[in-house]
Amino acid sequence: MKQVELKNGMTVPAIGQGTWRIGDDAAIREREAEALRTGIDCGMTLIDTAEMYGYGKSELVVGDAIKPYDRGKLFIVSKVLPQNAGRKNMRRSCEESLKRLGTDYLDLYLYHWRGPIPLSETVDCLRELKECGLIRDWGVSNFDTADMRELAQLKHGGNCLAVQDLYHIGSRGTEFSLHPYLRKNNIAFMAYCPLAINGTLRSGIMNNTVLRNIASAHNASVQQIMLAWVIRGGNTIAIPKSSSKQHTLENAAAADILLSDEELEQLDREFPAPDREIPLDIE
Ligand code: NAP
Repeated sequence: MKQVELKNGMTVPAIGQGTWRIGDDAAIREREAEALRTGIDCGMTLIDTAEMYGYGKSELVVGDAIKPYDRGKLFIVSKVLPQNAGRKNMRRSCEESLKRLGTDYLDLYLYHWRGPIPLSETVDCLRELKECGLIRDWGVSNFDTADMRELAQLKHGGNCLAVQDLYHIGSRGTEFSLHPYLRKNNIAFMAYCPLAINGTLRSGIMNNTVLRNIASAHNASVQQIMLAWVIRGGNTIAIPKSSSKQHTLENAAAADILLSDEELEQLDREFPAPDREIPLDIE
């Protein structure tokens, strides 16, 4: 599995596993846990979850799925809701996530999206969780370049390890200024909705002739090409969600697909990179 190096010295797989909506349907929870285990066995050892997902049900499924594994080989990411991202609630939120996940630390704790609590208070609380060992590192989500610059002004804001935003072949807004900013500051980028799960855009992408031709040239699916495209730069981690073993196997295999310069140019013509700042797409 292709890896991404983080500035804390750790390496993580370029394709990890998302979990939004996992745990929502009690009838398929065992199948979902099985799919997550299949992913871990294929090297997708980074799992992204959040206290928000199913009000903790996703974290419970993840906790169940990771039980048989050596915790040290996994990279578990969870997120704190904006209303809990301050002095009053953050520690409790984190401890409850840990309990549901059946672990005593998170590798990465993300501030899910910005809310009313001052950013400086959130960063202080994240730093304290790190100091007491409940989390290894912290990052942010749904932040644009202006948010990142504001974060960098704070005393400990420079310790942000990763940013998680929506990014897929049909939504390239973050490429304009955020990606260069992150590269310059050695901050990893996590791409959520890498398969464009929602929106009218999705059908346009799935039926795109260029994408379909490239997929067939690689004997792959359109979704696999989308993942190979997302991770092409070396600093981006894609976190597709799958509740089926077959999808998970395909997602893991996508890390081995290398797109040629010519294919990347064809895709650029079909799905042009932005030539100006665009507001973040938010799921
Ligand atoms: P996504 O990963 O882009 O798409 C998931 C959909 O794609 C599911 O319907 C899944 O179906 C299907 N799928 C997965 N692999 C496939 C394959 N190989 N072939 C065909 N279909 C496939 O969307 P997402 O779940 O919204 O985003 C990914 C993760 O990002 C989330 O799960 C979550 O962890 C994170 N996220 C974060 C935020 C945030 O605000 N930070 C927001 C949204 C999402 P099956 O389930 O049937 O396999």
